[in-house]
Amino acid sequence: MSEKINPFKMAQQQFDEVAEQMGLEKAVRDMLRWPMRQFKFQLPVRMDDGSIKVFFGFRVQHNDARGPAKGGIRFAANETVDTVKALATWMTWKCAVADIPLGGGKGGAVVDPATLSTGEKERLCREWIDAVWKNLGPRNDVPAPDVGTTAQMMGWMMDEYSKLRGEYVPGVITGKPVGGGGSRGRTAATGFGVVVTIREAMKHLDIDPRGQTASIQGFGNVAQYAARTFIEMLGGKVICVSCWDNNDKTAYTYTKMDGIDPYFLQGITDEYGTINREEAESAGYLVEDGDAWLYKDVDVLIPAAVEGVITGENVENVSEEVKILAEGANGPTTLEADAVFKERGTFVIPDFLCNAGGVTCSYFEQVQNDMNYYWTEEEVLDKLDHNMAQAFNSVLETALEKGLYMRDAAYWVAIARVEKAMRLRGWV
Ligand code: NAD
Repeated sequence: MSEKINPFKMAQQQFDEVAEQMGLEKAVRDMLRWPMRQFKFQLPVRMDDGSIKVFFGFRVQHNDARGPAKGGIRFAANETVDTVKALATWMTWKCAVADIPLGGGKGGAVVDPATLSTGEKERLCREWIDAVWKNLGPRNDVPAPDVGTTAQMMGWMMDEYSKLRGEYVPGVITGKPVGGGGSRGRTAATGFGVVVTIREAMKHLDIDPRGQTASIQGFGNVAQYAARTFIEMLGGKVICVSCWDNNDKTAYTYTKMDGIDPYFLQGITDEYGTINREEAESAGYLVEDGDAWLYKDVDVLIPAAVEGVITGENVENVSEEVKILAEGANGPTTLEADAVFKERGTFVIPDFLCNAGGVTCSYFEQVQNDMNYYWTEEEVLDKLDHNMAQAFNSVLETALEKGLYMRDAAYWVAIARVEKAMRLRGWV
């Protein structure tokens, strides 16, 4: 079994490799290998039984040369500062490759939110803001939801920050509920953006999208909207999706060779993205092993569930028919599997480009908060389509111009944009 890699070391290694190719000067490398600022704090929370329990929290601002730091807050029992530092670094690259004027940040608390009552969760959220609010703000650092945190929690956090500032400041945090400062279109944004990048890849590869087939891992937020958009925007056919089943503690693939109906499946899926197996079976879906989605003869593979699922071992069984790998999830492909795709010439749309629709829509939320004027869902998705297509095409151009693999080109574009902003500000 391979040793668990420290995620921050991995983020540094990825950066070092591209920095070397780009010939970046030492001062730039020294700055970008490390977060600019990191905060660690205690979170004493009054529990329902009257006792005080002390949790620990973090906020890391990796780089804010291009604009305020941006990134989620994770509440997880196994949260570590190294995970948060790595995720903050990746946010810098994601915002830069999406070309939105934001930097990279991430935060968290070491807690399993499922063990807390609603009141305890609210007090923890308010405490988190109390601990770090002086370093946050629409012009400094703008958090968002992530693993273990919800739109309601963002609402409490925004309220706490506004109370401390003595004014309504909705733009301090994104991912708020619609009607409470949130943006329309946010739920669809990431899956929608994934398909915009697939559409642009097909244009480049001269593939007619109509009738193209896809296989998707996951049936949560990203996967559901990727499936709908693949069918509705491209005229394609999704032949399977997969999900984790909490009752059986195992994953299943749901296949229909003439095309799944995402609306029907959404109707029988719970809030955690678990499809009701009996109902799917009675509707004629073939239920297979959790990894069956990966071995289908399809044109497009869309991992949109969890990290590290396409590995050196299973990649050999991926069909040669697959033309595009669109990484909806973060980090679905291990380094060994990536090397195989590179060798085979599979067109890979790397995660931080492919799934940047979510953060782009968060940026739109902040813009709407600033104006105090809200767009319709159609306007939001139109703007998102434009941004994602541009982001994809600037990476493609760099890949073609410099003969780079798409993942390396995406890093190149992102790092070059951050370096430029640092130079323009006179930091290096
Ligand atoms: P989610 O929790 O809504 O859904 C996750 C889905 O994956 C569920 O259907 C779950 O059953 C399934 N799943 C979990 N383990 C599985 C397994 N072993 N095999 C098959 N299915 C499995 O999560 P989400 O918001 O859709 O996020 C999915 C991925 O996309 C994550 O990597 C996340 O970091 C990334 N991402 C999400 C967003 C966003 O806006 N939601 C933005 C950027 C990146």
